[in-house]
Amino acid sequence: MNRSGLSRFSRFRGRRARFEHDRSDRAAQDERLRALCRTAKQAGIGTTQALAERLSRDGVDLDIPRLAGLKAALDGEARPLKPDVFEAGAEIPADALRLVERALDGQLAIAGFAGFSGRIANLFDYARENRAGTVARYIPELARQDPDQFGLAVCSLDGQRLALGDAEQAFCLQSVVKPLNYALALALNGENQVHRHVGREPSGRRFNELALDPDNRPHNPMINSGAIMCAAMIRPSRSVADRLDLVQRFVASAAGGAACGFDEAVYRSERQTAARNLSLVKLMDEHDAFPEGTDTGAALDLYLRTCSLTLDCQGLSVGAAMLANGGVCPLTGHRVIDPRIVRNTLSLMLTCGMYDYSGEYAFSVGLPAKSGVSGGLMIVIPGIAGIALFSPRLDRQGNCVRGIEFSRRLIEDYPFHIFAGVAAD
Ligand code: GLN
Repeated sequence: MNRSGLSRFSRFRGRRARFEHDRSDRAAQDERLRALCRTAKQAGIGTTQALAERLSRDGVDLDIPRLAGLKAALDGEARPLKPDVFEAGAEIPADALRLVERALDGQLAIAGFAGFSGRIANLFDYARENRAGTVARYIPELARQDPDQFGLAVCSLDGQRLALGDAEQAFCLQSVVKPLNYALALALNGENQVHRHVGREPSGRRFNELALDPDNRPHNPMINSGAIMCAAMIRPSRSVADRLDLVQRFVASAAGGAACGFDEAVYRSERQTAARNLSLVKLMDEHDAFPEGTDTGAALDLYLRTCSLTLDCQGLSVGAAMLANGGVCPLTGHRVIDPRIVRNTLSLMLTCGMYDYSGEYAFSVGLPAKSGVSGGLMIVIPGIAGIALFSPRLDRQGNCVRGIEFSRRLIEDYPFHIFAGVAAD
């Protein structure tokens, strides 16, 4: 098919990630600044302070690294909004100016932010009423969690942020780290090599069931066996400490530089209760599932350590937003993952990310997501935002009850289901 034939389908083709566009030349930049000041004036925004206020009403976090130059220009005493305001001091990348243009135009990733945050706060309160479910009991650190902790954070592709409840309470990621381990294994080994050793089919079984696919591989990277396999493919020649360090730095950069900690007590308990994971390793070993020469003990150890990495909802929502943005972190503007790897990761989150509820979640919510036994949940709204929730009350399948409740109601209110578009008129 020729190009014009394809262009009809452009809606469905990948766009270049934001922040990777042109660095525009001087003349274009000057023209852009003049136009921006004109538009601002028409919108009744005549000073630096008024513009900063408008952006923060739109939910834009001016403290994110990507907007440092803009913040420096708008900070301090109110000054008339003229092109030279933006030219003095720190350089403002074209991307930040485009963000201001979109804001003035009502075109930010989350338009009508005040209404959106009010609605999300309502959904959060509804979900809080749900006191069903219990905390995970297999290790004391999780059994001790306060079941009523509840946090939520949203981060949009334009750095609009919202935090509710215990959004700054760090928790161990557990299975929520699996998509990131998979993405890292892909980046280091390529798709063919990774999928020689792990499938991409929902297992239809529990996340730690002793079962392999017909080719004797773990069914997918979102269950324990598949995640141990991915860990085996993360820099196998290095020490476990170095490998963990790499994963930790990767998670932190996905989260826009958020503090990614390591919960030593959780790790020690995970080791003491690792009998099932050890059996999975034995099963895979018996069937020669690992790449040749794998130190399986080290792979399991790395897997358990990555389960013990910690983030809070704020950081996790940025990681989800990075995936929603095709692999470019909306806080830093840095590319963290290649688009193709993001596509693979989101596909598997959609089909396998919610344990034995994955099919139901894909059907009724229609968004790529990943949950973990500590009560964490990340939800990706492609092209719009990432959402993270933390609530240790788990249902029978091991998903956080309030996260499921929130997701269902979100989809009733907003057209975020990935197939919502086919019903639009
Ligand atoms: N770390 C635990 C395990 O490996 C739990 C993983 C999860 O969140 N399901 O079994």
